[in-house]
Amino acid sequence: EAATLSRIGLVGLAVMGQNLALNIAEKGFPISVYNRSPSKTDDTLRRAQTETPSPLPLTPTYSPKDFVLSLSPPRSVIILVKAGDAVDSTLSSLLPLLSPGDAVIDGGNEWYLNTERRISQAAQHGILYLGMGVSGGEEGARHGPSLMPGGSRQAYDNVRDVLFKIAAQVDDGPCVTYIGEGGSGNFVKMVHNGIEYGDMQLISEAYDVLKHVGGLSNEELAAIFNEWNRGELESFLIEITADIFKVRDEMGNDGGYLVDKILDKTGMKGTGKWTVQQAAELSVAAPTIAASLDCRYLSGLKEERERASATLQEAGLKDDEVIARVRGTVDRKRLIDDVRQALYASKICSYAQGMNLLRAKSIEQGWNLNLGELARIWKGGCIIRAVFLDRIKKAYQRNPDLASLVVDPEFALEMVQRQAAWRRVVGLAISAGISTPGMCASLAYFDTYRRSRLPANLVQAQRDLFGAHTYERTDIPGSFHTEWTKLA
Ligand code: NAP
Repeated sequence: EAATLSRIGLVGLAVMGQNLALNIAEKGFPISVYNRSPSKTDDTLRRAQTETPSPLPLTPTYSPKDFVLSLSPPRSVIILVKAGDAVDSTLSSLLPLLSPGDAVIDGGNEWYLNTERRISQAAQHGILYLGMGVSGGEEGARHGPSLMPGGSRQAYDNVRDVLFKIAAQVDDGPCVTYIGEGGSGNFVKMVHNGIEYGDMQLISEAYDVLKHVGGLSNEELAAIFNEWNRGELESFLIEITADIFKVRDEMGNDGGYLVDKILDKTGMKGTGKWTVQQAAELSVAAPTIAASLDCRYLSGLKEERERASATLQEAGLKDDEVIARVRGTVDRKRLIDDVRQALYASKICSYAQGMNLLRAKSIEQGWNLNLGELARIWKGGCIIRAVFLDRIKKAYQRNPDLASLVVDPEFALEMVQRQAAWRRVVGLAISAGISTPGMCASLAYFDTYRRSRLPANLVQAQRDLFGAHTYERTDIPGSFHTEWTKLA
């Protein structure tokens, strides 16, 4: 009797692949799986048989050939291996086995140009190709991620029913949409991660200010983040931050909190750096995201920072005294409320940067990205999921050509209402010597963007003086050059 063929296949059964495969199977789509090392295939099968009340429709396979032959044509194959070379080697093992009209969907955090190269490579075999950003980590993959598929529209249509079912579900639909052509899905996922860097940095600064300037304990921080999670800041990252403050250290024996034992050195895998590089390439200012990347670099210099701290203490820096003096001047209740507002306003500026980067790339590439729709699919499943993404969605629905989120009428009002608190927080942090690079970058971005006249006139004068680069005037059209030194 002929074996039944699977609806879809998935290659690469590490954290993401294993969980996504179980998610797909649980939604009722028979799936075949394959992994280079067979042990992960066995693990996946065991989970499929034990994790749910009844076994999931998952077929393990142990060679690329058996894998491909187990799929129902036109075949759709999701790849979830390590980004880069691993995708190329997986693809070259699959392409000779697939038939024209079949589709490959790379779900990794891939550099968008690698996807564009593979789209052409696959097309030579008549194979369709999608580069699909997947966000939400392990939990998201298992129970509902945010999906950002870009590339072949036909490949998308072939798996649309599956993607709609496995994605996170929010009030206005599943967190998936066809992003656009080429590497647009990967690019959007990259910017999502850049925004995630910004959010995490801003939250860590709020923590730093509340802890050192406000003198708040971990218990108090947990309570405040819980409270914030019931208001305009409601989001996954605020929620997990509240949880983090509650966890006791189980390894040490002083009964302290785990967060205080964690080395202050941040890891990273590259998507934040790519975001900042792309912003620079496209001449889009993204200072909050850049500040969060710089902070990760500086955090990495742990030993050097400890030496710098010692050297500057020897030179007379009395940082503890300065912090204590500033702490003595603050009203804690007011500080907590101010920090909440500073965090929110800073976040809006960071999202404005990310969205403007996406728009610039969309124009350059002709992707025709729908920014409101991107905000919508980030409302659930992904790491930056937040209640206020619905407001961003609505801002772009009101005006798809919105120049910046900060000038949407609703957000503009909020920025104005929050700016006094925001300035107080940044001012206090600066006088206490607590660095808040993300909040400062956001505020400087806002203050630069909203001012109709900047000191750029002087920079133009300098450029014209030393390089005859010419300048424009405010009153007379044309470009001008002045022999400055003769006149001075
Ligand atoms: P990973 O650690 O990035 O990759 C491990 C997988 O890649 C294993 O299945 C491994 O097979 C396979 N692999 C590595 N080199 C290979 C090669 N040369 N040929 C064939 N297979 C190879 O796995 P992951 O954390 O699940 O991530 C998968 C993708 O999703 C990555 O692009 C990642 O950036 C992205 N992503 C991850 C997360 C997350 O939270 N982890 C979230 C979103 C997106 P073996 O078992 O044989 O070694």
